Amino acid sequence: MSDHAMPRAVAQPELEALWLPFTHNRHFKKHPRLVSGAEGMYYTTPDGRRVLDGLSGLWCCNAGHRHPRIVEAVKAQLDELDYAVAFQVQHPKAFDLANALTAAAPGDLNHVFFTNSGSEAVDTALKIALAYHKARGDGGRYRLIGRAKGYHGVGFGGISVGGMTANRKAFASALLPGVDHLPHTHNLEQMAFTRGQPAWGAHLADDLENIVALHDASTIAAVIVEPMQGSAGVIVPPLGYLERLRAMCDKYGILLIFDEVITGFGRLGEMFSPTRLNVMPDILTFAKGITSGMVPLGGALVRDHVYEAFMHGPEHLVEFFHGYTYSGHPLACAAGLAALEVYRDEELFARARRLEPLLAEAVHALRGEPNVIDIRNFGLAAAVELAPRADGVSLRAMEIFDRCFEQGVMLRYTGDILAMGPAATASEDELGIMVDTLRRAIRAAS
Ligand code: PLP
Repeated sequence: MSDHAMPRAVAQPELEALWLPFTHNRHFKKHPRLVSGAEGMYYTTPDGRRVLDGLSGLWCCNAGHRHPRIVEAVKAQLDELDYAVAFQVQHPKAFDLANALTAAAPGDLNHVFFTNSGSEAVDTALKIALAYHKARGDGGRYRLIGRAKGYHGVGFGGISVGGMTANRKAFASALLPGVDHLPHTHNLEQMAFTRGQPAWGAHLADDLENIVALHDASTIAAVIVEPMQGSAGVIVPPLGYLERLRAMCDKYGILLIFDEVITGFGRLGEMFSPTRLNVMPDILTFAKGITSGMVPLGGALVRDHVYEAFMHGPEHLVEFFHGYTYSGHPLACAAGLAALEVYRDEELFARARRLEPLLAEAVHALRGEPNVIDIRNFGLAAAVELAPRADGVSLRAMEIFDRCFEQGVMLRYTGDILAMGPAATASEDELGIMVDTLRRAIRAAS
């Protein structure tokens, strides 16, 4: 790590109280990086520098930061109702948002269960899947199938079906029983530098047949995948892959869950992936972009047949023993309703579709730069993968990330992959600035 990006080298005591999530805390506290304001496509730092946000926060501020209409809606909500009891009582905006979401969601995803985060959305979806089979008298289906390199948040359910080793290994003793994993679809030999969906790899879905043969279909409740793997570094579904998974799930009575926490709300140029990829899940999880990142909110959308399986028995009994104090919080619902209006009125999903080829063009022009071994893109998401440095994985990407930040562009790195996911409000110039800054940082990096 060069010193240029790191002016301070002693831990600052006032930073010790906060334990940062998914962060190298000791390193961070010697080299803190703060943002204190944001507007549109830019963050500002405490010392007044503007930083172009190349990742929509953490893939969430899809309409840009502090969109005035969402800000106004949240402020107005504060003057009206702060908290409404989530169980047995509700407030009108929770229904309004549920109606707006289900009206805009594809197919018969007609019911929504609200959570506060993507991790909770995933755990909710997994619990719905298990309880669905039980409600239908098929409670022997207890297995959940995830995928290698999958990221489904940090709940015990999410890390169990997730496929990121670092997120699992300390918790091995507490992972859910009966979980198995499909192979991931990333293969540098077959698909390096592919634009959009790779032609190779649909057959990797067939591994579900092996899993079924091993465990028997009668024990499998659900398969969960991200339509495009985001956190693992923009791993794009091979053509035909999701279709095959869907067909096998149908054949064996297995529910298919799409985790759209990153892919929802315009990231793939549509509200959700089925409109683009023509594959319908039974349950779809979302979070992040639903409020353009302004207030935490997530949820699981379910199709009619899933919801209806629960709606039996005496009406005074609770159908699903699950929920959060803040499920459908009024501030989150106000933000969600306003964000949906912004996406619609400003036609931001169409804008994302228009920006997609521009981002692709710009990022693929990095081919041939030092140590670049792959470039991938899909929707408003792109990743540049670098060969790791001899002295350690992620050091090269970390240096490049730091250099970009210093030069006024915020990206994200995982391992030696740098990811970009700009808001749908980005201008063509801003896409160019992101990629040019990355190019200079790649050239300058050791
Ligand atoms: N699922 C997916 C696909 C994600 O990408 C993420 C977060 O990036 C999550 C779940 C977890 O969401 P949260 O951090 O809001 O719990």
